[in-house]
Amino acid sequence: MGNVNLKAPEVTVRELRLGSVTGFAGSAEDLVGCARCGKLADKSRSFSQTLGCSTSNAACTLILIQDAAVISHGPVGCAGCLHEFAFTYRVNGVHRGLEKTTPRHIYSTDLEEKDTIYGGNQKLADAIREVHRRTNVNAIFIITTCASGIIGDDVEGIANEAEEELGIPVVAVFCEGFRSKIWTSGFDAGYHGIARKLIKPAERKQEDLVNIINFWGTDVFAQWFKRLNLRTNYLTPYATVDQIAHSSEAIATMQICSTLGSYLGAALEQYFGVEEIKTSPPYGIPQTERWFRELGRITNRKEEVEIFLAEERERWLPRIEELRGKLKGKTAYVTAGASHGHSLLAILKELGMEPQGAAIFHHDPLYDNGAVEGDTLQHVVEDYGNVKAFNVCNKQEFELVNILHRVRPDILLARHGGMTLWGAKFGIPSLLIGDEHYGMGYQGLVNYGERILETIENDEFVKNLEKHAINPYTKWWLNQDPYTFLGGEADVVGY
Ligand code: SF4
Repeated sequence: MGNVNLKAPEVTVRELRLGSVTGFAGSAEDLVGCARCGKLADKSRSFSQTLGCSTSNAACTLILIQDAAVISHGPVGCAGCLHEFAFTYRVNGVHRGLEKTTPRHIYSTDLEEKDTIYGGNQKLADAIREVHRRTNVNAIFIITTCASGIIGDDVEGIANEAEEELGIPVVAVFCEGFRSKIWTSGFDAGYHGIARKLIKPAERKQEDLVNIINFWGTDVFAQWFKRLNLRTNYLTPYATVDQIAHSSEAIATMQICSTLGSYLGAALEQYFGVEEIKTSPPYGIPQTERWFRELGRITNRKEEVEIFLAEERERWLPRIEELRGKLKGKTAYVTAGASHGHSLLAILKELGMEPQGAAIFHHDPLYDNGAVEGDTLQHVVEDYGNVKAFNVCNKQEFELVNILHRVRPDILLARHGGMTLWGAKFGIPSLLIGDEHYGMGYQGLVNYGERILETIENDEFVKNLEKHAINPYTKWWLNQDPYTFLGGEADVVGY
């Protein structure tokens, strides 16, 4: 059954399951080459700044389900950032067709010192019943934390007992922060819980339904799919528990980012017979065409797809050409999560820009489907050529700041909040687009091209900020090699 084992309560972390790494300095071509010949070895750092935590990524797959509740089983601080998803749910609900966004149900068992001695089992059991009484939701998820993992609470046993008593899925999701240096292991933990306890075997196949594993992007697929006589089933933000249960009835599953959806896409195919579109998501022209043709093959709509692509080309290519003329030769730097970061590089190259490098948060040599055609970075290298300075770093901002100080690109493209600040402090126009659908297809190239142009042209604010900003990093650090603390035999690329 490949990487997916729904009989086990826990999913193996990415380091062990996929051979993923968080430390690399070299070129994109080298990285793809190492991954293909099985020579990808992680490089640890002798100095490291704070990493992200898997609990937050697990929560990301669960909190936005319309009629579910999430209990963080641990100290209250581990749930400290989860309220951000309530904000996200409210802000983006309107783009996803919700008439009214309901409050998110987020709780913590608030483990304290004495609980780490006597155990937190009873607290958790009481919390599940109290959450059920207050919210009447259709599923309850328990996300574990370092504290509950270390003291060895029987979270699976308590969840199973509560499930029997309450008659709704009560799902233990094992995502303690200390498990993995790769916080996207939390996505896998959330989806593992969903696949083993929410998704039901198909009652009937719906030949026009396509699962889309995504975050909270604007619903661009509905208008595309309408022209192909297909329907969308977004997973899991804004879905209901019932909708997720029936995702096994879809004809295909796509992911807007393979880093996000790797595990659920593979689980749906391997356990529920829903074919996964394994080629990378549709960013950049060659990949957009490959992706839509694969969609056409799986859904028996080859001719409709060719008509669709011809219409899209006719509509958008003239504007793409204009933008290429204006952006040609402009330089850029990218910092983002893995697969989406690769997609941003494809967009830049497609627009005639020159990515000087990228700081990408981790690297998966392959995804859970094991398909080489799913390697988004390989597509970028094959379609557009090498990216010479490719750094894999789990948001080690000291490395990013050092690099930005040297390369001074015309624009910094970031995907995570907080990262654009570092570009702005150097007077570099910096752009963060939270809508992951924004760059997809032909239309996405126009969207991004226009925003990039607008950001580069309106640089007065960042130029002023540079004059007044205080950078916490001193010359001592900025004059050193950015990979000074990256161990092993790094193929260091000079700037
Ligand atoms: S689970 Fe662990 S790493 Fe995550 S916030 Fe709690 S203590 Fe920190």
